[in-house]
Amino acid sequence: MLNKGVIAMIEFSDVVKTYQEKQVVNKLNLTIASGEFFVLVGPSGSGKTTILKMINRLISQSNGQILIDGVDTNQVDRAKLRKNIGYVLQNIALFPNLTISQNAGILLEAQGIKREKRQTLVNELLDRVGLPHEQYSDRMPSELSGGEQQRVGIVRSLITKPSVILMDEPFSALDPLSRKQLQNLILELHKEFKPTILFVTHDMQEALRLGTRIGVLVNGRLQQVGDPNTVINQPANKIVSSLFNNQRVTLISDLKSAGLFHLLKSDQVIQAPHLSETQTIQELAMVLREYHQVIIDQQHFITADDLLQYISQQ
Ligand code: ADP
Ligand code: MG
Repeated sequence: MLNKGVIAMIEFSDVVKTYQEKQVVNKLNLTIASGEFFVLVGPSGSGKTTILKMINRLISQSNGQILIDGVDTNQVDRAKLRKNIGYVLQNIALFPNLTISQNAGILLEAQGIKREKRQTLVNELLDRVGLPHEQYSDRMPSELSGGEQQRVGIVRSLITKPSVILMDEPFSALDPLSRKQLQNLILELHKEFKPTILFVTHDMQEALRLGTRIGVLVNGRLQQVGDPNTVINQPANKIVSSLFNNQRVTLISDLKSAGLFHLLKSDQVIQAPHLSETQTIQELAMVLREYHQVIIDQQHFITADDLLQYISQQ
């Protein structure tokens, strides 16, 4: 069942959650590898939060097993389990009467780490996420913007170096610029610390931008799991493709504006289908399923990677 050589960090085996006869998570089978950045994407009510909460046992599954590193989470002491799992929520609840530094270090304090050591770790990480500690340590949460508070939430979840981080729509309430900055930040931090991240969002663009693999969840059922390229170019079914189609119509010319066209040199001959820049990116995606590149209006060419880059930047 497992890929050879890959440690299964988080494994769901036939996991079901039922509320009053209603199945909100339907036989979930999924393995998330150690150190992976996995994004679970799906509309509101599809069961994303329920899945996250079952991992750290804020709620219990009705059926099936969840294993972390091969160990059934139900067999692990709950406090011990949570110590190893960071959790970041959409509206990060900072304690309003504690300073930023105290909020950021609260989990270290709970672990009995001495004040000085705590301070060093907090300062380092605050600096790292763009909140210079000289400026921010002693401020109160109400003196920070939403994006800054979310950075504190990231520090709080990372500071104990958990091997798993669960993120529940952490950037959904932010303006587009802050959202993009924090997406970049979390990608950098993931590279640096290599935790296993399970990131949940309803935003397909965000999923494509962040995930190494993406799971598409609709009505409690996992519709497709794949890398971003596969999910865009080979949607498993109509439900998955409709998640893209609901977005505004983007034309191939939009990729040109984004600087993603490559000029075809006069002596360059490539074997590729032809499209016009007034066609839609859905049409482009269809063609790029079968060909590596497409020629646009005889003058330019574009590749599947360019399309992916464009979509992930939106
Ligand atoms: P998402 O995070 O994808 O928006 P949720 O996991 O929060 O979805 O919810 C999935 C479904 O389960 C929804 O239909 C929701 O109404 C239902 N649900 C969640 N929590 C409860 C609960 N405590 N009791 C009954 N139904 C619930
Ligand atoms: Mg939710």
